[in-house]
Amino acid sequence: MVDRTCPGCAINDDHPRHQAVTEAGDIAAWHTDCHALKGCPVCVIARQGAENLTGDEYRDHLVANGEAINAAVQDLPPGTLNEVFGKVN
Ligand SMILES: [Zn+2]
Ligand SMILES: [Zn+2]
Repeated sequence: MVDRTCPGCAINDDHPRHQAVTEAGDIAAWHTDCHALKGCPVCVIARQGAENLTGDEYRDHLVANGEAINAAVQDLPPGTLNEVFGKVN
């Protein structure tokens, strides 16, 4: 696992991330909880039932529920995945 800096909280760690496009067209690696706070629907789905989990516990949750999470993400309205949630300076 590679340490990355989350643009939401500026913490550098190897916790699971949502890699999302920024306004500048770059890729930012958000913590899912930080990104959910910015309104990202993918991260809201990914945090459902895992509100209090971080790090390895949350990683286990993603592994155990990956299929259901992916299915829910596929059901999002078209275009949602291309929207930018959260500004990155
Ligand atoms: Zn964060
Ligand atoms: Zn997200």
